[in-house]
Amino acid sequence: MKTFLSVCLAVLAFQSTIVYAAQWDLIFAGQLLAIPGEPVANEQSVILKDGRVHSVEPGYIDPQSIDRSASDTLEIHDLKDHFVMPGFIDGHVHLTVYMASNESMNWVRMSEADFAIRGAKYAKDTLLAGFTTVRDMGAFSGDSIYAIRDGINNGDIIGPRTYVAGHTISINGGHGDITHSYKQSVADAIRSAGICDGVSECRKVVREQIRRTADHIKLTATAGVLSESAAGLEQQFFDDELKAIIDTAHLMGVKVAAHAHGAQGINAALRAGVDTIEHGTFLNQESIQLFVETGAYLSPTLSAGASMEPLVNDPNSFLTPIQREKSEMALTRGKQYVREAHNGGVNIALSTDAGVIEHGKNALEFELLVNWGGMTPMEAIKAGTINGADNIGKLDELGSIEAGKWGDIVAVKANPLEDIAVLKNIDFVMKEGEVYLNR
Ligand SMILES: [Zn+2]
Repeated sequence: MKTFLSVCLAVLAFQSTIVYAAQWDLIFAGQLLAIPGEPVANEQSVILKDGRVHSVEPGYIDPQSIDRSASDTLEIHDLKDHFVMPGFIDGHVHLTVYMASNESMNWVRMSEADFAIRGAKYAKDTLLAGFTTVRDMGAFSGDSIYAIRDGINNGDIIGPRTYVAGHTISINGGHGDITHSYKQSVADAIRSAGICDGVSECRKVVREQIRRTADHIKLTATAGVLSESAAGLEQQFFDDELKAIIDTAHLMGVKVAAHAHGAQGINAALRAGVDTIEHGTFLNQESIQLFVETGAYLSPTLSAGASMEPLVNDPNSFLTPIQREKSEMALTRGKQYVREAHNGGVNIALSTDAGVIEHGKNALEFELLVNWGGMTPMEAIKAGTINGADNIGKLDELGSIEAGKWGDIVAVKANPLEDIAVLKNIDFVMKEGEVYLNR
């Protein structure tokens, strides 16, 4: 008994000597765009504690002036010759997908493990391009995308903070049904769990995504460019099915994003209360009015359109005649519609559809929002930071360098307000105070 007591006392004595040690980071920023949309400040100090922004102070402060205990650690990051800004947010990626010419064969051939390993690589490529947060907008297979999200959160693999939709919700034979033209036995074997027809089935598949811990719901309101379907680019779900999906998700506090190209489908989804329209290619004046009324976001994914250009121009590319016709329509329109939406006051969040484009090339979208979308470089950066955070519903944690938010910080050696294209070559990436790239 005496021995037991002395052991207990020894443990207590040991525990009382364990002191909590904080990790401090101090960034010296030559130029700092702390809050996109507000002015740039020169020679600033960004102080982080345990991965979150503690404060932003003018001038290069004396590290000794940080009020910390002796056991705390402090790391100094000298970015005096850099332009420093918040980490980027991509509102539309597919981390387990890469639409190379043989992707339809991969859907049959690849296992969940293959998708997870490939997705882990794409996640790393995305983070190293300066994108510290992404929304995954639908996986064709089951568990891998959740494993990637959770693996990143647990620190087992490297990647951006990832919010996932799980399976894309689509009608039978619709854009999210990958089994077009497959023989029946193969279609039965690989059909996505997100397929639904009618109000009751659609409620059920939404609840199944939420049960599997989906962060948001993705539905395909209209046909799509690359699906092997000649049904054009218009509405696919009926109005009552759209409303059933959106209401079911909202009832459980989950946002809904709708893939939509044709105006009829865009407007039906907006009227049904959707939170974001993905692509939005053929939006019209009524759409713009509905966007403004509802406050819904537009995720343009111009990069996906731009990536189609060489494939459309190459008569020997893998595009089938159906895909080619739809790609040509979308490409022409892609150079105009964001300008119309932007001028009409629509909320726009940067989105790429990475997976259709190469993962890690996400910053191309900044350039396209300027060149095709008519935005200023500052507006484009805002679309990829503050608007992205608002779009996800995480403006209190992400999107700017302000006290209390996550220490997600990127830097380049040139000024992106003078040449937006410099964002394609990021020199410094920090996520939650951890440095992943420092060239
Ligand atoms: Zn997509």
